[in-house]
Amino acid sequence: MKRRHFIKKASVTGLGLVTASSTFLSVDENQEIKNEIAVTSKYIKPLVIATWKTDLAVETAAAVLEKGGNALDAVEQGCRIEEANEKGQSVGKGGLPDRDGEVTLDACIMNEKGDYGAVLGVKNIKHVISVARKVMEDTPHVMLVGEGAENFAVSKGFERENLLTEAAKKAWKKWKEKSEYKPIINIENHDTIGMLAIDKKGNISGACTTSGLAYKMPGRVGDSPIIGGGLFVDNEVGGASATGLGEEVLKTVGSFLIVELMRQGKSPQEACEEAIGRIVNKPGKDFKNFQVGYIAVNKKGETGAFSIHQHFSYNLYKNKENKNIPSDFYNKV
Ligand code: ASP
Repeated sequence: MKRRHFIKKASVTGLGLVTASSTFLSVDENQEIKNEIAVTSKYIKPLVIATWKTDLAVETAAAVLEKGGNALDAVEQGCRIEEANEKGQSVGKGGLPDRDGEVTLDACIMNEKGDYGAVLGVKNIKHVISVARKVMEDTPHVMLVGEGAENFAVSKGFERENLLTEAAKKAWKKWKEKSEYKPIINIENHDTIGMLAIDKKGNISGACTTSGLAYKMPGRVGDSPIIGGGLFVDNEVGGASATGLGEEVLKTVGSFLIVELMRQGKSPQEACEEAIGRIVNKPGKDFKNFQVGYIAVNKKGETGAFSIHQHFSYNLYKNKENKNIPSDFYNKV
């Protein structure tokens, strides 16, 4: 094992490993590990950050972490809250349907080992984040789509249910009166949830779940379930997640970009701002009618958020406090 990795491992698993290892390490090496632990123990953890006003979801994830649970369980449990919330019109049950009136859900999850699982365009199953986790853990694949994903979910004990609520049906019928053939981008009212968590051991995981754009073309998939688009986590660096017009996030591989910028030394805030810059500074790009928002966290527990337009917000749990915070934004004219 390379020394750098050994030291990282030692710092992650804590003093126990140092003591156990100290017999075969030199005095200098032991001191180096102790120094690293002294630094990492100052990192802010546990921590949860999630897109939009997601108080209960973040509180739920934080409760998992405070009890000593891991970041992966935390983000899954947190996201399930929004999937079950029928009032949220961009996630899970109650999500707005596609143009044909079908609710189809996308989700992905990523753990601290860099494993990833996703489901795309799933009908009739509410907790797609948990199905994505099953894809990651119980199959040799990373993505399942449509009917295959739905059948897989049922084989794993998930129950089929009607995801189209009366309220969503009513909204769809109203949209149908004009049936405008363009993605509906409500700048202020997304609630796709992207969530990142750091557990007490300092491990990072992330999850993202959505019903996608309201009245999308049947078969359309956005950024949310795509690795590096709606979500990316690298346990040595940090994580990022996106919300808003998925097409623009995908074209710039936004979440991966943010993590790579942090790897190169940018703060989470600087990285989010640069990722938004890559979208709005494209020649001829008219960003007036669409929103994209990013959140990010690095290994130290420093966070960042940035969006194109005002009214993006995020929930942040740290130092035992859960707050909804308005994000800074690009379009200040
Ligand atoms: N990013 C999601 C998508 O494009 C939508 C959203 O965040 O509202 O599917």
